Amino acid sequence: VDNTEAKFTTNENNLKRDLAAGAAKLIEWLAVFGRDSHDGVTRLLYTQEWRAGQLAVATKMKEYGLYVYDDQVGNVFGRLEGTLPDNKTILTGSHLDTVNNGGKYDGAYGIIAGMIALDYLLQTYGSPKRSLEVVALCEEEGSRFPLTFWGSGNITGHHDIEQIKGMKDADGILFMEAMKESGYGDPSLKPTRRNDIAAFIELHIEQGILLERRGYRLGIVEAIVGQKRFTFTITGETGHAGTTPMTLRKDAMAGASEMILQLEKTALRVDKQLVATVGRITAEPNAANVIPGKVTFTVDARHTVENDLNQFCIGMISRFQEIAATRELHLDCHPWMDEKPVQLNDNLAGKLEQICQNHDISHHRMVSGAGHDSQIFQPHCPTVMLFVPSHRGISHSPLEFTSPESMADGILVLIDLLYQLGYEENFDENL
Ligand SMILES: [Zn+2]
Repeated sequence: VDNTEAKFTTNENNLKRDLAAGAAKLIEWLAVFGRDSHDGVTRLLYTQEWRAGQLAVATKMKEYGLYVYDDQVGNVFGRLEGTLPDNKTILTGSHLDTVNNGGKYDGAYGIIAGMIALDYLLQTYGSPKRSLEVVALCEEEGSRFPLTFWGSGNITGHHDIEQIKGMKDADGILFMEAMKESGYGDPSLKPTRRNDIAAFIELHIEQGILLERRGYRLGIVEAIVGQKRFTFTITGETGHAGTTPMTLRKDAMAGASEMILQLEKTALRVDKQLVATVGRITAEPNAANVIPGKVTFTVDARHTVENDLNQFCIGMISRFQEIAATRELHLDCHPWMDEKPVQLNDNLAGKLEQICQNHDISHHRMVSGAGHDSQIFQPHCPTVMLFVPSHRGISHSPLEFTSPESMADGILVLIDLLYQLGYEENFDENL
């Protein structure tokens, strides 16, 4: 028996137990801010609940011995200053906001994981050579105002304050006013734009069932899908459901149905990376005894390869036009979202893979079918994501659950990566 080896294993088991207990505690602690009546969490940007959560995070970061500051839009950072004259920063974290009646883990996990990792590193190794920071990004979900990635977008230059002029929430409150109300938006505050970030690492729940189904403990995200969304409006002829013969109809609903089934068939044929969904449909006049004269439906299509996604969508539109023409219907297509796919940093993904192997943690390289702050960071600095399993794939729901042990797996790997990037003498110049 190799005693050194045995000692290490015991220590690692103790560490994992501490990380699991710490993560479970912090997840519950943060979920209190914005707990809603349905046992979920609702922390919309610049609301009182959001502000309370953000202040609590800042206080906790200070308790952990981090230097805490915020910026003009309300991102909060906890910083461990590097000892070497290297002005680059390694950043980890995720978003503080939630959807309406969301869960405890989406976004929150990435923040608490970063806090625990920095706390552990500071206590164990002291100050890093290169500066390390954890961030609670102010907003990602787009649940209050019609804009997503407000926090990461301002850091990277993807968004700026000009864009929100005149933008309102559902209650008619101006974005700018809500921001000022929370104490942000003033030009005298610290500018949000950063040029010192050497890498961004985001831990997040998977929000899917792949890891749990296949028994992988962690997912290393290589790419985030591109998304295109459309609204199609089909116009036919309203008619009496009893007196109009089948052969003389211009039924917008029947036409829409054929298009939707055709879409599903084609999507199944393309490849496994492609997904296409019709999530909303409305009919007019929407009466049981009237042939629908107008039907409107949405299409959400996603793929990791930009060209494949474009080709699919071009093919879809021309097939819809053929169906409309055959049925003598009029088709109108309105594209309203076009997010390009993003390949994350392969060098960082490789490091995560190696760390997982060192710890004997089963892992899987995968694609994220959902959007994340990481896709905003990647064009700005090398970025990687690590997924922990989501029980039954549930997210954006009070039923979201990830076990403390899974959370600990992610944090253990994060600690090692931050150690490599922040404490080891030879900084990776590829970053
Ligand atoms: Zn999220």
